[in-house]
Amino acid sequence: MAFGGERGGADGSPITHVERVPARDGRPAPWPAWTPAPLRDALAGRGIAALWEHQAAAAELAHGGSHVVLATGTASGKSLAYQLPALSALLADPRATVLYLSPTKALAADQLRAITRLDLDGIRPATLDGDTPREEREWIRQHARFVLTNPDMLHHSLLPGHARWGVFLRRLTYVVIDECHTYRGVFGSHVAHVLRRLRRAATRYGSRPTFVLASATSGDPADTASRLTGLPVVAVTEDASPRGAVTFALWEPPLLPPEFGPEPVRPRTALDDATATHPGSRAAGNPTEGSEILDAAVTGGAGSDGDSLDAAAGPGAAAGGGETVEVELPPVRRSALRETADLLTEAVAAGTRTLAFVRSRRGAEVVASMARRALDEAVPGLGDRVAAYRGGYLREDRRAIERALLTGELLALASTNALELGVDLVGLDAVLICGYPGTRASLWQQAGRAGRSGGEALAVLVARDDPLDTYLVHHPEALFGRPVEATVLDPTNPYVLGPQLCCAASEAPLTSDDLELFGGAPARDAVAVLTETGALRRRPSGWYWTHRGRPEVDLRGTGGAAVSVVESATGRLLGTVDPGSAHLQLHTGAVYLHQGVSYLVDGLDLEDAVALVHPAEPDFSTHARDVTNLSVAEVREYVDAGPVGLFLGEVDVTSQVVSYQRRRLRTGEVIDTRPLDLPVRELRTVAVWFTISPQALAAAGVAAADVPGALHAAEHAAIGLLPLMATCDRWDIGGLSTANHADTEASTVFVYDGHPGGAGFAERAYDTAAAWLRATREAIASCGCDSGCPSCVQSPKCGNGNSPLAKGAAVAVLDAVLDALPDSPADSPHLVPGPRSDL
Ligand SMILES: [Zn+2]
Ligand SMILES: [Zn+2]
Repeated sequence: MAFGGERGGADGSPITHVERVPARDGRPAPWPAWTPAPLRDALAGRGIAALWEHQAAAAELAHGGSHVVLATGTASGKSLAYQLPALSALLADPRATVLYLSPTKALAADQLRAITRLDLDGIRPATLDGDTPREEREWIRQHARFVLTNPDMLHHSLLPGHARWGVFLRRLTYVVIDECHTYRGVFGSHVAHVLRRLRRAATRYGSRPTFVLASATSGDPADTASRLTGLPVVAVTEDASPRGAVTFALWEPPLLPPEFGPEPVRPRTALDDATATHPGSRAAGNPTEGSEILDAAVTGGAGSDGDSLDAAAGPGAAAGGGETVEVELPPVRRSALRETADLLTEAVAAGTRTLAFVRSRRGAEVVASMARRALDEAVPGLGDRVAAYRGGYLREDRRAIERALLTGELLALASTNALELGVDLVGLDAVLICGYPGTRASLWQQAGRAGRSGGEALAVLVARDDPLDTYLVHHPEALFGRPVEATVLDPTNPYVLGPQLCCAASEAPLTSDDLELFGGAPARDAVAVLTETGALRRRPSGWYWTHRGRPEVDLRGTGGAAVSVVESATGRLLGTVDPGSAHLQLHTGAVYLHQGVSYLVDGLDLEDAVALVHPAEPDFSTHARDVTNLSVAEVREYVDAGPVGLFLGEVDVTSQVVSYQRRRLRTGEVIDTRPLDLPVRELRTVAVWFTISPQALAAAGVAAADVPGALHAAEHAAIGLLPLMATCDRWDIGGLSTANHADTEASTVFVYDGHPGGAGFAERAYDTAAAWLRATREAIASCGCDSGCPSCVQSPKCGNGNSPLAKGAAVAVLDAVLDALPDSPADSPHLVPGPRSDL
């Protein structure tokens, strides 16, 4: 496949980097001496003649009783590393049991098939999920020795019914947690407590199981696994499996010369007009905090697949989904979708079997149809060899499509990330990745589909209009060097801890010792609050749940009912949106995107938590505007770096969606602004913030008039780059910048977790502040635009219409901050909470 040189445009090739990932020979290891002969024979019968070193190392640790996390690449054989000790234990002791947890039913089903095929005597594996019939559950409890389930079942069924599971729990030897990197943010924090409840139940019945975790590669897997389980965990990260050579190219779509743009109207122009015509907006209407700028916190983006991310992101989020960048903010670069479609066309014309990953279903369909059209023009009928693939197909259909691609009957497939888990489609000639999929783990999972034995395979990452994508295509070391992005979760979040302690108390009264298990001081504080509010009752023997029924706790939320999106005409439920982002996405008149189809919101009923919508293809997009205030409640830690201060603490954010703009799709021109009547929302959460003195700003050459725009631009880019340090989505995070904040009495940029109580993102940002802000600075500086674009400082979810923004001054501010800041907060005197006057 050739990189089309002529499409590079006047500014040269779109290829910013080519990395040759060399082939690697596998390093085999002998079977551990303790492997039972029947297991070795059964594995040999499945074509597994030996182990790789990393599998042996992890298995050996687990067998010796150490809790272990294996964090290696896609297709490195992680399952064998836990199957070996777990199945050995089941064969050695005919009464032992194993619990296996996976984030998806499909993965559990794959594992069940793999274990069943080994046909070992007396293991009796079984999956337990929401669909398991009652009578079968009874059998599983009594007879199954390898139970495959998920955290939700553990939370809703197994732990509340622990008495019936007493025999199983008493003999519990191993707990396997597969794909543990998916337990992040609020969900991960809940799962951490579900696992502590499991440990408590096991102890109660007399067992101390060993935990074996499997993770995608990430920064600091041992620390994450420790937070998740509450146990010391050893990491095995050296991948010893063989791998084919891959040539990995990073591709930045060229900037469009103005005459080739969809319409030569830059978003700034339209937005500037808007601010001028609508002085009610915060920037113009509130002189005392005239430059206080907001990025609305949107908390709905926690879905694990591209579609739900797009759907959750809604109207303001259109730019999050790749294909709608054109709709949202007219691109100044050629769209990543179009580039991907062209590359796919060239690949098919050259007879290359190619898989293109696109973030949304509609995007995948657009790429496939553009490629089909171009191919049919060249050779009628050739377009038939390209298909779009998405979630929701039946298993048989999926297998048929995969087979067609593997046999070459189909030459190319454009897909969402639906393939990511549990499906064995590998060995392709080329993989195209349209837009950074959000984490290195996903990137490598996608790229890992390319690679034939013996041959060279190709992977291409096509950057979208996004500061993180821009940074990555110019900083290949962030992709090919040591991983920095860590899976974060925060089990101390009081909004998670309180409800989880109620669950634990309803399973068995909480004792003082138990509180250590659930986190010590934060748990003691939480129990005091729960006792005071009457949720728990204190008795001499401990804390009791005395209410009728069990506590209602949703593992994916922090309180409040999700808003249902219902189609008016049919009553069909399209999906749900987090209560925190419903005001922004589902206000009356909003354009709501669901799986690539657009709807108009007829009305939002907050009382019943329902939004009624009807399908529509309006020629405008909608953009909610909101007014946000932030006050500092408590400083947890800070770094005093002279003219610059760096802080981590709790903040109260109040915001109100006050109006929305309608903008023409093609040009971004503002049609009108319509008022909304929605209540104020309040959020207590965790934030990281930095302050900079007026003297330092002046010394950096930032004119006073540019300070608001510089801080606002830095804030946008900083939010865009945080996913480099922590596995979050920019929709998990909010921000606010101001030239002078009442609490800090300085120019300040705040970045906060969009989830009540925090989810660990701001904390990770604080811990890696220098690296994070340096990457932010680089992303802005390396963008070739003149005055700011979606690839650097514009944000698709700005509550202030991306105004004001000062790109050059933002680089100067970040340089000044980085000059003062130590490389790590740990390098400076560790400062603990001080009185408010110390701010
Ligand atoms: Zn730019
Ligand atoms: Zn903004």
